Amino acid sequence: MTPRKTVVIGAGPVGALAALYAANRGDDVAVYELRSDLRESTTTPLNFTKSINLALSQRGIEAILAAGHPLLLDTVLQETIPMAARMVHYRNALGKVIEDSQQYDVHGRFQRAVDRGLLNRVLLDELAKMDNVKLFFQHKLTGADFRRKKAWFEVQSDRDAVAGRRAQEIEIDFDLVIGADGAHSSTRYHMMKYALMDYQQEYIDCLWCEFSMTPSTTDDYRISPNHLHIWPGGSFMFIALPNLDKSFTCTLFAPVATFTDLEKASDSDLVHFFDKHFPNVTDHIDSASLSAQFRRNPHLPLINIKCSPHHFSDSAVIVGDAANAIVPFYGQGMNAGLESVRILFEALDNHESPAEALAAYTKTRTKDTHAIADLALVNYKEMRSSVTSRFYKLRKYIEETLYHYFPSAGWATQYSRVSFSNVPYSQVIERSKYQERVLKNVLALCVLVPGIGIAFRLSRYHGVRRVLGIGP
Ligand code: FAD
Repeated sequence: MTPRKTVVIGAGPVGALAALYAANRGDDVAVYELRSDLRESTTTPLNFTKSINLALSQRGIEAILAAGHPLLLDTVLQETIPMAARMVHYRNALGKVIEDSQQYDVHGRFQRAVDRGLLNRVLLDELAKMDNVKLFFQHKLTGADFRRKKAWFEVQSDRDAVAGRRAQEIEIDFDLVIGADGAHSSTRYHMMKYALMDYQQEYIDCLWCEFSMTPSTTDDYRISPNHLHIWPGGSFMFIALPNLDKSFTCTLFAPVATFTDLEKASDSDLVHFFDKHFPNVTDHIDSASLSAQFRRNPHLPLINIKCSPHHFSDSAVIVGDAANAIVPFYGQGMNAGLESVRILFEALDNHESPAEALAAYTKTRTKDTHAIADLALVNYKEMRSSVTSRFYKLRKYIEETLYHYFPSAGWATQYSRVSFSNVPYSQVIERSKYQERVLKNVLALCVLVPGIGIAFRLSRYHGVRRVLGIGP
């Protein structure tokens, strides 16, 4: 039998993993990537200042593990830094700077900081070793006919571009296209003309700007490397994730209006803003560098995309940001994309017909990707403001205590289910709602039972006084 020709659009982390899964099944795989090979390139990837680092958690890890390349996961994990807790930096009501370490999981599980570019490189290196995989860089998908199973690409090398030579157009055939070409997916755009796709996109009122915190003068981390650091500011926040070279990649997230104000502000006002809201940051990033980075680095938007279906017939499917670009506040965008690859190939393995497999994939995965999009939006509020509130801490304490003592009763925190399990995201929401109802009932009982007791005692007391003739 001739192997199936699987074409992957986009060689980001999700596309590269999808190509590995397809190659393992024996498909004839071709990966087409718009940019040049990041393993050879010294230029900055589009949209990023240097290279962003991400939180890698269980869903992503299990998807890499299930790719069937035994050493691959070890290679990735060796390059990660465990982050067991959040470190929340804030000033209390008396103005004292507080550093509050909030453990991610009572059972000791942790997030891992990983360099996105490095992870991508490891996956591409693995692909390059496989005989049934071809990698095509500087190939931009420009059109696709998903009925006739044909796609068109513009091919232009750097040399052609510099010499002003026009891009060439090529046509290819395929059995299946896997679109992993990011939030502004061209695959999705062309698939829309065939599938009756519902599509929703939203730019949230938030921009982000990246900063680098260099190692200390003694070549050490300036702040604890085993934390994801958060400086909550109410309607905005600053965060920092560690890198292997002892630097931190930091990000300011804030509403558009705050960015506009800061863009207009003088350097000293900008530094004052940081000193006021993000205590001690300017001890670690000097003022001149902070202002320079804010002015130099791009101020980028955050998009939230939901669509359905994620496939057309037996010829096209979209995964990763192409299918569900979500805001980054649960650290799940890439993790969810990698998990989608695992679930997609499980569906392909479990169904005789690819059309049935893709339909089954859309049916289960769409609701889950929509669920994590919603959870990620809600988590922004938690990170930028709730983390310092007493009510939040009390609730976290109660939930974690229950989770610690009754894990076998199926009790777990929402954070653990999202980050340290493979429970489908839509079920995470259902279980959290159920636990919330139970907690509310228990709390109501805690108030009600002593209340009834007190009322009963009072009524007996007044009854006795009446009998003795000393009461009203
Ligand atoms: P991309 O990484 O966007 O890759 C798409 C690829 O397709 C690119 O290489 C692009 O060049 C190529 N392409 C585009 N158009 C074409 C075309 N027409 N033809 C050919 N190729 C094309 N996720 C986490 O899991 N944890 C985190 O902690 C986290 N933090 C984040 C922080 C920030 C500030 C941001 C913005 C995102 C964060 N994410 C996080 C999300 C994560 O970055 C994305 O979900 C992930 O990179 C998506 O991977 P992808 O492969 O689907 O898409």
